[in-house]
Amino acid sequence: MNALYRLDRHARRAAARHGHRPGHRVPPVPTSPPAHYKCHGCGAEGVKLWREYQTAASVTALLCAPCACRSQKKPDTVGPDGQRPDEIFGERMRTDQIGWMVPAIPDGDTYWGYTSVPRAACAWWTALPTRVPGGSAAAPSPAIVAVAAALGAAS
Ligand SMILES: [Zn+2]
Repeated sequence: MNALYRLDRHARRAAARHGHRPGHRVPPVPTSPPAHYKCHGCGAEGVKLWREYQTAASVTALLCAPCACRSQKKPDTVGPDGQRPDEIFGERMRTDQIGWMVPAIPDGDTYWGYTSVPRAACAWWTALPTRVPGGSAAAPSPAIVAVAAALGAAS
């Protein structure tokens, strides 16, 4: 079954629901994840990825939910919608941030700014699975350990 086809339909439906008016630039929504859209920690593909906040797209590390949580030393409580309970407010305020990492939503060769993601692109990301089906037992790679160390030093 073509999961990407379903994602595409989901994104299109979301775009239609939010009523882009004729003449307005419709934000480009990738129909399938770009080739580089792969977890730098465990290599997972076709899942939601997070990027470091305010880091240039060319150098940012992309991490899947389990790897992002490990790198940020957070419990992996990310749900299927890519949200997790806020550390202060708990379930009353769910967030898509994992420590210093935010959703990586492709916009061509770069990523949408955290506060400027069009709804359709947001829907595209939300439709991606949060985890590799069956789970990944991959141990943290040297890349994750390096990211964790760099972010730990910066905070
Ligand atoms: Zn990963």
